[in-house]
Amino acid sequence: MKLDATDLRYITGDEFRVLTAVEMGSKNHEVVPTVLIVQISGLRNGGVNKILGSLAKRNLVARVQNSRYDGYRLTYGGYDYLAIRALSKRDTLYSVGNQIGVGKESGERSNIYVVADAEGHEMVLKLHRLGRISFRAIKEKRDYMGKRKSASWMYMSRLAAQKEWAFMKVLHEHGFPVPRPIDQARHCILMEFIDAYPLRQVSDVPSPGKLYSDLMDIIVRFAQAGLIHGDYNEFNILIRRDTGEPIVIDFPQMVSTSHVNAEMYFNRDVQCIRKYFRKRFRYESKIYPRFSTTQKSGDADEGYRLDVVVEASGFKKRDQEALEQYMDTVAREGVESDGDGSTDEEEGEQESGEEEEDAEGASEDITDSSQHLDIAVPGSSHGPSSLP
Ligand code: ADP
Ligand code: MG
Repeated sequence: MKLDATDLRYITGDEFRVLTAVEMGSKNHEVVPTVLIVQISGLRNGGVNKILGSLAKRNLVARVQNSRYDGYRLTYGGYDYLAIRALSKRDTLYSVGNQIGVGKESGERSNIYVVADAEGHEMVLKLHRLGRISFRAIKEKRDYMGKRKSASWMYMSRLAAQKEWAFMKVLHEHGFPVPRPIDQARHCILMEFIDAYPLRQVSDVPSPGKLYSDLMDIIVRFAQAGLIHGDYNEFNILIRRDTGEPIVIDFPQMVSTSHVNAEMYFNRDVQCIRKYFRKRFRYESKIYPRFSTTQKSGDADEGYRLDVVVEASGFKKRDQEALEQYMDTVAREGVESDGDGSTDEEEGEQESGEEEEDAEGASEDITDSSQHLDIAVPGSSHGPSSLP
């Protein structure tokens, strides 16, 4: 799909109302019945149909006819649109520029854009994209969905963004080398732009030994504060262009040191760095941190537990567990849908009111072509172009 600055500028109030109605209806409906969209939007029937047509033309919603009723679902593009609009209404985001960080890592779970505020300060917008699980896999794993029967890609992507936001905030506040978090909406995070290369792209460092020990120190500091990164690799470590200092990114899979598999995750992070340094820099050290040492109380003067702080900050354990199970399932099952484009009609259509906090939850989208936000910047191939 194409979403450009013009699109964001010229959506009418009624169009926005209808789009929001589709999103709200998605909470309990795989396909939101047109009559429900009319009801939620509070607009005239005929008007709504016309607006739905124009939203569908812009790929913000997709029309679905199933055996029982006509309806619409919010597309990935529509969800991106709503999030970006929310950020721009809050004045944290003003313009959208180029996509970066594409195709460097297999199994990417996000799209990254360089964006700017009204003063032209560059920032990074991360749109979370958790892979879709096949409906079959969802059915088998229904337990973690709780009452929510439609395991929505959008809902899980939003949880991933909320989790990453919660961790980034707490880490930044406690002086860890992470980007400064700026804002969060739906499945998106706005953060400081780091002028850096991913470690993966760095072929030469002045002192591999120094970088190695800095990176191990960060792992140890994380663990002393009750946290394990869980995906500590050459893609998620950025090396600042000016100082060569490492900055750690990508937190949706962070776990607490009290997790049952904490030691395994810790060792995996450590081994990942050791292996990479052997391969890339021919650097090997016998010295590397052990989990047990980091967990000895007394020797660490950092008497705080950030895993506890994060929980207190509002990202609930329940959400954390749902996300973890979903991500595990994605990792195991791969990230495909059923592929035949069919939705399971038994699912998602007969549900009634659930938790009110899930108002942003949305539906599974099967129209693949609209999966990626494609931001065209009219008249400029470089810098950000302005939003309304
Ligand atoms: P994913 O979950 O898809 O792996 P990441 O958060 O790891 O997403 O980001 C993917 C890539 O985007 C990074 O490898 C990096 O190149 C770039 N990137 C992400 N965040 C920033 C940032 N704050 N500043 C600069 N580049 C970033
Ligand atoms: Mg990453």
